[in-house]
Amino acid sequence: MTDRQTASDSSPNGPSRRPLIAGNWKMHKLPSEAQSWTREFLAALETLSGAGGDSGDNRDSGNRGLACDVALAVPFTHLLGMARLTFGSALALGSQDVSAHEQGAYTGEVAAAMVKDCGATYAVVGHSERRAYHAEDDALINQKLVRSFEAGLVPILCVGETREQRDAGDAEEVVIGQLHEALAGVSSQAAADLVVAYEPVWAIGTGLTATAADAQDMCAAVRRQLASQLPEHADAIRIVYGGSMKPSNAVELLAQPDIDGGLIGGASLARDDLLEIVRAATR
Ligand code: PEP
Repeated sequence: MTDRQTASDSSPNGPSRRPLIAGNWKMHKLPSEAQSWTREFLAALETLSGAGGDSGDNRDSGNRGLACDVALAVPFTHLLGMARLTFGSALALGSQDVSAHEQGAYTGEVAAAMVKDCGATYAVVGHSERRAYHAEDDALINQKLVRSFEAGLVPILCVGETREQRDAGDAEEVVIGQLHEALAGVSSQAAADLVVAYEPVWAIGTGLTATAADAQDMCAAVRRQLASQLPEHADAIRIVYGGSMKPSNAVELLAQPDIDGGLIGGASLARDDLLEIVRAATR
């Protein structure tokens, strides 16, 4: 955990983890469009300040008054321009990927340190679209995770099963296997800042959503696995759900004890929808 933020506070009732609502814009919006979107979103976010109260600190120091962390993972080309607008605000930025390499002759790649230098706090790693369309395997994702930690980014590690794997009864084995491989060799110290996103592949961009009970069951299984790999941090690490989260289902999903927020694709493109999900997380 960084010295700037405490995502989890212990209480007599167990740890209370600060929710994280992270949008993933994928390859949408021009940088110029993102500027006006961000200005208007920040103004709207201001109106939520104080919602749910907040006695905690925030990694970006601008979130006082909001009872959750809010982030947007945007295309690399948007980071610098958006960072100028969001600096010191309640909205943190993230990249949607980072290179597995630190630096060097890797044409077209973007290093974690570059992303960090452009103002990002988070990096999405291992998104199912990267796994499916760019043949990213667990070993590569492990390298990307390590590079993110080294650069001081907070990785949002995505894991999730396909429809076929769920139908075959293999969902948990697949997800836990992905987690196990991605975390191989990651030091306990580095991993304190990790965020895990459980994203069933069949729910991403399809309008289908895991039931709250199924999502909770998997997130609880993820936490058990974290307890065996990173025992000191398992209670504090945030596990978020992704897969067609929207205003109409956010409240129920976010009410689950092991779901500490959301990774939101489609609904994060619409200011009001994202705001509504942030509101749900601050209840
Ligand atoms: C995602 O891209 O991580 C995602 C969850 O997308 P959507 O919300 O559109 O399903």
